[in-house]
Parts: sequence; C-alpha cells; structure tokens
Amino acid sequence: MIAAGAAATFGSAVVSSCGDDKSDGKKGADKATGVVADLGSRINCINCGHCMPCDFGVDIPGVFVFYNAALEKGIIPSETSTRSETRRFLSEYDSTIPDASQAHRCITCYHCAGKCPQNIFIARQMERITELTESLRDRLCTDD
Ligand code: SF4
Ligand code: SF4
Repeated sequence: MIAAGAAATFGSAVVSSCGDDKSDGKKGADKATGVVADLGSRINCINCGHCMPCDFGVDIPGVFVFYNAALEKGIIPSETSTRSETRRFLSEYDSTIPDASQAHRCITCYHCAGKCPQNIFIARQMERITELTESLRDRLCTDD
C-alpha cells in the first residue's frame, strides 16, 4: 500500500494513489486477472500459528484465512467485476486485516521459511496477494 499521504479513501477502505507502479504498461484489471488465475486455488493454511510472529507485523494466518474465505465466497474480483464489487472486496480486506498486518508488509525476509508444516512458501504467497490487492486498488484509479 502507498503511504497514507498519497492515498484516497473510499468508505473505510484506503485505495492507493493513482499513477503508481505502471511500469509494465498494463492496467490494474489486467494485472489482477493474472494474479487471480495464479492464486485461484485455496492456500493450504491450517491456521496453526507456527509461522508467527512475523517481525514485520504480517498476520500470516489471518491473511491466508481471509484469502481462502474470500475465494470460497467468490468475492475476489475478476476482470468482469464492477467497481463496487472491487471496492467491497478491498473494504472487507481492510476491515478484516489492519493495514499494518496486511500482506504488503512482508519484506520477504524469509524468517518464516521452513516453519510451516504445510510447506507453504509464505513469502511468495504474500507477494502474490499483495500484487492482487494493489492491482485492484489501481483498478479503482485506472478504470473508467
Ligand atoms: S517473509 Fe514476510 S511474512 Fe515471513 S517473516 Fe519475513 S516479512 Fe514476515
Ligand atoms: S505455519 Fe503454515 S499452516 Fe500454520 S499458520 Fe503459518 S502459514 Fe498457516
């Protein structure tokens, strides 16, 4: 997520500022669709907490539980989702996981590596969820 000073708010959700991270020239919707396809299956987290705490504040099981629940509820936006559906998903993420504990706080330090009995590549999954949520925030800025 972008620094608060560069953000716009939609209800309780914070949406990153427009115009950031456009280096690949793709619109947010296109990037998000690819990530959804990549992340389309459930993350096999059993919420055991063995990976915690994260020194950088990431609520690792919380993020994965949220993602799995969102996947099961079918609320992860696709390329055909409306702006309100995208906004609703991001608002739910922001209200469920505080900003300081969201996936984008992961700095890929790998201190959690090897602690997961499910052999989840935690840092990589955090990167993917971050790419998804940041792309969706961008979508709210870039779509007409
Ligand atoms: S890799 Fe990410 S989630 Fe794991 S301990 Fe480091 S910052 Fe936390
Ligand atoms: S150690 Fe693995 S299964 Fe347990 S909470 Fe962390 S990510 Fe989930």
